[in-house]
Amino acid sequence: MGRCALEVADIFRTCGPAWRQAQQGHLSVGQLKVMSAIEQCRSAALGGHVLRCNGCDHVEIAYNSCRNRHCPKCQAKAAQRWLEARQADLLPVEYYHVVFTLPAPISEIAYTNKAVIYRLLFEVAADTLQTIAADPKHLGAEIGATLVLHTWGSALTHHPHVHGIVPGGGLSLDGERWVSCRPGFFLSVRVLSRLFRRRFLEALAQAHQAGQLKFFGEHARLADATAFARWLAPLSKCEWVVYAKRPFAGPAAVLAYLSRYTHRVAISNRRLVALDERGVTFRWKDYRIRGRTRHKTMTV
Ligand SMILES: [Zn+2]
Ligand SMILES: [Zn+2]
Repeated sequence: MGRCALEVADIFRTCGPAWRQAQQGHLSVGQLKVMSAIEQCRSAALGGHVLRCNGCDHVEIAYNSCRNRHCPKCQAKAAQRWLEARQADLLPVEYYHVVFTLPAPISEIAYTNKAVIYRLLFEVAADTLQTIAADPKHLGAEIGATLVLHTWGSALTHHPHVHGIVPGGGLSLDGERWVSCRPGFFLSVRVLSRLFRRRFLEALAQAHQAGQLKFFGEHARLADATAFARWLAPLSKCEWVVYAKRPFAGPAAVLAYLSRYTHRVAISNRRLVALDERGVTFRWKDYRIRGRTRHKTMTV
């Protein structure tokens, strides 16, 4: 993409002052900080350094980055670095793409208990994979995995799930040799799903007992231990979806897919089309319409 492509920073610099004036009193310090970071990122305001080639005296000025979590410029770079580092980790073996999903009722209470439930989701998914893989009845090896949390489904509903990229084998328990899984078959999803369900429900009950869960609105009654236990009971009977398959396009393609989410920002620079007297025009995707590449232009 060319250097003169429109960026969120350009919009903030052009329209930010008037917008902040209009929104006075409605913006948090955090929001103002993000705007300021994005406006100043890689501009003289943040300082920088001058690079000079000793051979030809060519001079280049490199301005410092803001490194803000919400900056599209910084996060696109960070996503690229993350992807390169993960791809460098890949071993020359078969890989499996695994997904651990929480049932809908738990997703609902996760919305107001993000820190506790997201942490449990990560821990229990990792623990389930390691436990089943280490069991000699299954693989009998110590495995490693890269796990990525997704909190929204494609229908833009709160839908926490964890994606994993896992080599189809691991180190023998004495650490002496590589143990491969059967070609095309990693671990039984049924076995993974059962253990994931049991461990997650145990951990969730413990978190409730420890007073770590908060309930609001229609869920307020679940603060009571008996009501919570009654609510939890049917979840130990329903199916918990675990997916484990060899990715068609190989592990690198899955990592590339995941990297688009690991450093996500509200709107990336490449979706911006124009800034003019009518407003900002950007591309968007209507998820209610089937098909993955449909884009529209919206003027606001
Ligand atoms: Zn930045
Ligand atoms: Zn996902």
